[in-house]
Amino acid sequence: MRDFRERCRCYGFGSTETPALRLNRNRNTGTYSRRQASRRDVLRGLAAGLAGLSLAPLASSVALAAGGIAVADVAPKIKVLSGAGGNIVVLATSAGQVVVDSGAAAQSDAVVGTLRELGGTGAKVAALVNTHWHRDQTGANEALGVAGATIIAHAKTRQRLRAGWYVPASDRYEPPLPPAARPTKAFYTTDSASFGDERIEYGYLIEAHTDGDLYVRIPSANVIATGDVVSPQRDPVLDWFGGGWLGGRVDALAKLLALGDARTRYVPSVGSVVGRAQVQAEHDLLKTVFDRMVVNLRLGQTADDMLKVGLLDGLPRTFEDPAKFLYDANKGFWAHHNKLMNDIV
Ligand SMILES: [Zn+2]
Repeated sequence: MRDFRERCRCYGFGSTETPALRLNRNRNTGTYSRRQASRRDVLRGLAAGLAGLSLAPLASSVALAAGGIAVADVAPKIKVLSGAGGNIVVLATSAGQVVVDSGAAAQSDAVVGTLRELGGTGAKVAALVNTHWHRDQTGANEALGVAGATIIAHAKTRQRLRAGWYVPASDRYEPPLPPAARPTKAFYTTDSASFGDERIEYGYLIEAHTDGDLYVRIPSANVIATGDVVSPQRDPVLDWFGGGWLGGRVDALAKLLALGDARTRYVPSVGSVVGRAQVQAEHDLLKTVFDRMVVNLRLGQTADDMLKVGLLDGLPRTFEDPAKFLYDANKGFWAHHNKLMNDIV
């Protein structure tokens, strides 16, 4: 766990919101109102939008495989499978396939069939990396584990998959995965592994979505698999009871930006492959929400209060379920109440 000073640097206590996202805030009520956009803001917004649009094609072709799974070419040796729970990244190496996440259990057979189809005769999955422990990422773990794949995950993910976990939103327990489905290799901070002619690097994204998130970087193709830490399509999910919170998410997005460059392609669990501009936009948006929430929490507001005073207003992105997002973000803050401001110990 990093110390408090380091966190202060990350969150920039006292810093202002991204100028283009700034709203007028009533310091007594925490109420937000849209300020008059200046000509400079409008131009800045246009420039940001154009930067997002000017990206090179992110996937060259998409085909349908068994069970309605879509297969997209992302790089000469990398494909992304979608339609079976979370996205699955497949890297072809001379030692077999390296797979990031294994989809949902209901589609396990279709996932295994598609991997065989892609690998050709005698193909095998050398390794499976789980970006975290949610069910949409671990469904075919057992089938691939039984077939001999090394299963790599963060130590926290291995612990969750061995022990099971509680889901407060639906008041139920998720059972542990069968032994063959559990990670066989775990790490704490960063690690790497080589498979034939390819090498992957992976590292912890602490408290970003759960307590066991990781990225997988494929240097030869400048591709980074991000799991549910990047969320271009659906509302960012903060599994607060599973150890995720908004501060961890903002830090993790900054880390993902630092790991990449202008040409890096990021593969999220849900949605299409994105470039640096989208990851930067998501970081800036959530940093703005973080800064606003710190103020409103200190006024003693609940998540409902924050919604009513317009905390999510004026942002370049709307939320499908703003009440749920704020509820989860608020819950996460209360596990980190000592980071609300640097005068609280
Ligand atoms: Zn997830």
